[in-house]
Formats: sequence, structure tokens, C-alpha cells
Amino acid sequence: MIERQELKPAFDLSRLTTGKQLVWINPEAGRTETEEEQAQAVKLTMVDVDDAEARLQRFAPFIKRCFPETDAADGMIESALVPVPKMQGRINEKYGAKLSGRLYLKLDSHLPIAGSIKARGGIYEVLKHTEDLALEHGLITLKDSYEVLADDQNRKFFSRYTIQVGSTGNLGLSIGIMSAAVGYQVIVHMSADAREWKKELLRSHGVTVIEYESDYSGAVKSGRKLSEQDPYSYFVDDENSENLFLGYAVAAKRLKTQLAAQEIIVDGEHPLFVYIPCGVGGAPGGVAFGLKRVFGDSVHCFFVEPVEAPCMLAGMASGLHNDISVRDIGLSGITHADGLAVGRPSGFVGKMMEPLLGGIFTVSDANLYEYLRDLLDTEEVFLEPSACAAFAGPVMLNRYKETKEYLRLHCLEDKMARAVHIAWATGGNLVPEPVRQEYRNTFL
Ligand SMILES: *Cc1c(COP(=O)(O)O)cnc(C)c1O
Repeated sequence: MIERQELKPAFDLSRLTTGKQLVWINPEAGRTETEEEQAQAVKLTMVDVDDAEARLQRFAPFIKRCFPETDAADGMIESALVPVPKMQGRINEKYGAKLSGRLYLKLDSHLPIAGSIKARGGIYEVLKHTEDLALEHGLITLKDSYEVLADDQNRKFFSRYTIQVGSTGNLGLSIGIMSAAVGYQVIVHMSADAREWKKELLRSHGVTVIEYESDYSGAVKSGRKLSEQDPYSYFVDDENSENLFLGYAVAAKRLKTQLAAQEIIVDGEHPLFVYIPCGVGGAPGGVAFGLKRVFGDSVHCFFVEPVEAPCMLAGMASGLHNDISVRDIGLSGITHADGLAVGRPSGFVGKMMEPLLGGIFTVSDANLYEYLRDLLDTEEVFLEPSACAAFAGPVMLNRYKETKEYLRLHCLEDKMARAVHIAWATGGNLVPEPVRQEYRNTFL
């Protein structure tokens, strides 16, 4: 265990305003959890993650019935873990990344139904709420096959209820599509950053889309208020929801099985590095929480945020969490990474990450498009710009003095040849072809 004081050079927030990419190493990474944190950790434990996993299992027959694309996986919403050696070669040549070990891609970009990591948390929360209502009103018992929830009379029951959510796009897609499948009325409050095609796709599912001039926090605030006025309405609160968080955390248990199936060892001698794009923090936070519970000190989790919207970095480095917005330090919060265009982080997630997170990289919008083309060229995988942020980790790990120091302090230097790096590809599969073309041809 590393003592906090040993590592604690305070981070100068004004560095964020230079517009340059950088890394923040969490000075508390690897320290022992405080009593308060342990109490928090007791509130949200692996038992809750197991419970979430079991709930998704109960819903599998329903999911399979509503979404035939999940047939092959028997109603389980999961993505592949694939090696990307050509991309690794590319980043080593093009950016001098010197990345040893093996680079993998976790293809949440290709998750069924929503085509993004939001198919984990967003869909889970809608299903959790659905189960609560269905049990309360005697539509099902825990022992029934939940397939019956797709029957007409049950859909009619759910149509009395409304689900609302604030979103930069992808959360709205996952909640909107799943809620519409259950039969709910759905209202998605979209921030100014949301892409037009995402709004259109939602409307085609019968979802009401309300557009805002404001940023993400503004859309959430308004949605939360409108939902509170309607007793039949349920608000999915991305900034505070433990359900969303648990839905994301299930990914860690599934990843463990996947790694074992591919005979990839993770232990003290074989470190695992995971790089996840971060917006408000729920998705990367949930995944990282699960991974730390599953792999402990053998896993090193890093988030990546846009240079103009490093909200989790600002919140964690200052200790102010959701009491700071990137605007407070003179940043615009505006970025091409629409999924990451968040100015104020989730306070609940930031606090939870204090003893767990390795650090946070920032990435320029220009590089997102470079990585997008690099991956298409080398591996023929398309990701949306937000998801490409993940590559800033593997590209820069061996280049910053701070990350080199992290590797030294955690006694990782001589283990790197055996390391596995996972870039968490958080979205892209639903992006329409013309928009893909536009991305491919964007040079900043
Ligand atoms: C939402 C999203 C993220 C980040 O998730 P948060 O919970 O907002 O931190 C990353 N990538 C993509 C593509 C997303 O849609």
C-alpha cells in the first residue's frame, strides 16, 4: 500500500486551461480506503453487482423476444473482447507510443440494441424499474419467465408510465429504445451537443425529444424537474444513479469470464490496464468499480476526457467533485466528443473513485479523428469520436513523466512486457453511414 503523503503533489488546475493534452495521476491511487469509504463500499458491494447481473439474467427471455439481434447470446447484452495488434503497431510507429504487452479492444461500440456502453447502465435501469413495477402490481413473480412482460396487456399497463432522462445522445438512445420496447411513454431531454441523427432515431421509436440550448447539466436539471411534477414519471438520473452504476459494473464480471476464456492471465505479475472515455463518470466509474472489486491491485484503471471538458479530472484533482464545473476554470466544455461533453461530474462517482482510479488522460479533438482513422485503417473497426478517446491512454502511457513515475511506484516497469491493455470502445455502431464519412474526413 502506498501512503498518500508520499505521492501528493497537488495538481495545478490552471494547467487544464492551456489546451494541451496532459495526464493527472490520482495521488490516492492504491492507498487504503478510509472508514467512510469502506462504509460507502459496504453500501455498494459485489453483492449488489451480483444482484444486477441476476436481474439481467431474469430479463434475458424478454430481451430476446423484443430484440432478435440478441438471439445468439440468449438475450444477454454483451460485447466481444478482441486483440488489435495492427492498431498497436500503428500507435507505436505513428506516435512513438512504445506500448509493450498486448492491446485489446472491448467492443461496447457493438453492444446490441444501443450500440454504446449505455446499453449496460441505461438498459439495466429501465429493466430494474420495470421489475419493481411489475412485481408491485403482480404482473409477474420472480419465478416467472419475464417474456410475458412483452404481452399486450402488460405493455398496456406500462404505457400509463413515463420514463424521462437527460442526455447528450447515447444514454437517451439506450433508455429510449428499451423504454419504448417495454411500452412506456418516453421523454428524452437532449443537450445542445446531441447529434441530429440520434434525435431522429429516437423519434422514429416514438420517443419525445425535447431539445435544449444548454449543456448536459441543464438538460438533466430540467428533465428532473419536469419528471418530479408527474407521479407516473420516473427520472433516470445519470448524475446520481446507483442503478446505472451497477448496470455498468456487471461488465467487470463478464470481462473476467472473457479473459479466462481467452486464457489471458491477470495477477500480480500480469497487470491489466483499462482505458475508458469519461463523461459524467457513471459508465467508466461503474466499470472501474467492478474491475477493482474483481482484480484488486492487478488492474489499473484510467479515464480519458476531452481537453475542453475534463470534468472528472477537475472534480477529483480539486476534491470539489460536483461542486466544480469546467466553466469555473475557464474551459468551454465544448468538444466534438459529444458523448463526453459534460461540464460537471457526478459527485457520487468521483468520491467512489478516489481510492480506485489510477488517473485521467485528456485528449484533443484533433487526435480523436486521427485514432478513428488509425483504427479503421488497421483493424477495420469504426468507433465514434468519443470512443476513440480511449486510445489516448495506450498512446501516452509511456510518454508522460507522470505515468512513468506511476509505473515505477507501483513496481510495474519490469512487468510491462506481460501487460494487457484494454481500450474500452464505448460507442459507434449506430452511427449512420453519411456521418461516418463525415468523421473520416474531419481533420482539425
Ligand atoms: C456516455 C458515454 C461515455 C461516458 O459515460 P459517462 O457515464 O457519461 O461517463 C463514453 N463514451 C460514449 C460513446 C458515451 O456515449
